[in-house]
Amino acid sequence: AKSEGRDTYRFYEHEMGQEARARRIMEHELRHAVSRREFHLVYQPQKKLDTGDLIGYEALLRWRHPERGNISPGVFIPVAEESGAIVPIGEWVLQTACSAAAGWKDDLMIAVNVSAVQLHSVNFPQTVHRVLLETGLSPHRLEIEITETALVRDMHRALTTLRQLKALGIKVAMDDFGTGYSSLSNLRAFPFDKIKIDGSFIRQVDTNEQAATIVKAVLGIGRGLGLPVLAEGVETSGELSFLASEFCQIGQGYYLGRPSPIEDVLREFETEEQK
Ligand code: C2E
Ligand code: CA
Ligand code: CA
Ligand code: CA
Repeated sequence: AKSEGRDTYRFYEHEMGQEARARRIMEHELRHAVSRREFHLVYQPQKKLDTGDLIGYEALLRWRHPERGNISPGVFIPVAEESGAIVPIGEWVLQTACSAAAGWKDDLMIAVNVSAVQLHSVNFPQTVHRVLLETGLSPHRLEIEITETALVRDMHRALTTLRQLKALGIKVAMDDFGTGYSSLSNLRAFPFDKIKIDGSFIRQVDTNEQAATIVKAVLGIGRGLGLPVLAEGVETSGELSFLASEFCQIGQGYYLGRPSPIEDVLREFETEEQK
């Protein structure tokens, strides 16, 4: 039994060694992926639920790996966060998204995800300021999406940074609301402009009473605090009509529009103009 234990241990050691190696390889690849032009952004529409009007787009990062094909952000973002590569990658995202949005109709918003490591990196507000100047995008058209994990890490510093960002004139949305912890105190402590309810609460909101109760409560909080609420992951007409009937202001999800490459966004603008 003793030797068996040792073999098992060796087995795990081997497995872990391989996993760690795969991770190191990915960390290395991520450091070069920007200069190797392996990233691109897709844009998903955010729409007003009462009129169906387009408000803007969320930029979502895509990685086309030369050998392994598309790798999901759910897989590579955590690796990039841990290695710090998310800082230059995030700057590329910001620059690319703002530069694209600067060419859109005046009032359309661009929402960009900012991870904790990036938010707390040195000179992040200055980076945003520089990108706005370089791209010519009006600050009020940029919204950064932040999750609660980004705030909880160092509340004091996060508040200072958010105030500096707000002073630039940009908007800040709380992303994935309901999935983190101490959400309610965070809503009060930080200067948010919008709440994004996580898609997991929207699923079956029209047929599941518990889901409906939670979503209605969040909408009530938004109303009380004077913050518009965006529902993520809207996938069906039933979910959409429930949300609209509860006066949820904004929606995003496959039912309202898939994330699509910039060419498709621009083509859509052209057909809009021809109408
Ligand atoms: P997120 O910010 O919560 O983004 C929403 C995710 O839901 C996106 O997944 C989007 O494609 C997906 N989605 C949109 N509509 C629907 C729907 O109706 N149903 C379902 N099931 N899913 C929907 P994606 O693009 O795979 O991104 C996953 C996560 O990766 C994002 O979650 C965000 O946390 C992170 N991420 C993506 N791009 C960036 C980026 O540029 N920077 C950073 N820091 N994180 C990013
Ligand atoms: Ca987001
Ligand atoms: Ca989200
Ligand atoms: Ca999410």
